[in-house]
Amino acid sequence: MQQDSPKILIVEDEPSIADNIVFALQLDGFHSEHQLLATSALASLQSTTFDLVIIDVGLPDINGFELCKQIRNFSNIPIIFLTARADEIDRILGLELGADDYVTKPFSPRELSTRVKAILRRVSRKESRTDPSHSNNDTSQYGFTIDKEKASITYLSQKLELTRIEYFLLSKLIENPQHVFSREQLMQAAWDNPEHSLERAVDTHIKGLRAKLKQVSNNFQPIKTHRGLGYSLELSE
Ligand code: CA
Repeated sequence: MQQDSPKILIVEDEPSIADNIVFALQLDGFHSEHQLLATSALASLQSTTFDLVIIDVGLPDINGFELCKQIRNFSNIPIIFLTARADEIDRILGLELGADDYVTKPFSPRELSTRVKAILRRVSRKESRTDPSHSNNDTSQYGFTIDKEKASITYLSQKLELTRIEYFLLSKLIENPQHVFSREQLMQAAWDNPEHSLERAVDTHIKGLRAKLKQVSNNFQPIKTHRGLGYSLELSE
């Protein structure tokens, strides 16, 4: 295994599940470290550099959601959740946590490893995209400015705190104002392996984006819903 292969932190309190994940990741050329507790995972993250974290929602000390929030205080590292409950998915992908992906238990470790690969590809693609020597000029539209170098967006001069997926979704809308995109097209723009994501996930991210835009300006909502079609960015009601 190469010294510089990506390193994954697994936070899972069931050793047999964790062993299967470690094995599947190893087959795909990833290094991994396994922690049984959220507190020990936090300690690891602060002393070692990782490329991605896999977090089981049900942990015995601090639950996975709280662990995610604590990680977000100091790191933007991609996060995949393991959950046994479908009703947790909105929360996982939504405004509050903004994780990159999730896998529902029971799951195939190979499938999980495929997701890990897809996310890391997306991150490295974003890094090459944000290479200043290749970057386009900033795009400004309807009060939005996309700074591609920093992969950030300001709205009415305020910087939006966006998750990676929200950034790609909103960029797509800003670069093509008044164009109605179907959920599927938006998924293609923001996800590396859209076939694994639910169209409903687009709705969840759009909901998160709207809440963030509303915090900047309560008067007007620029993201419009087109029933049965999708979403667009509009300047007026
Ligand atoms: Ca558990």
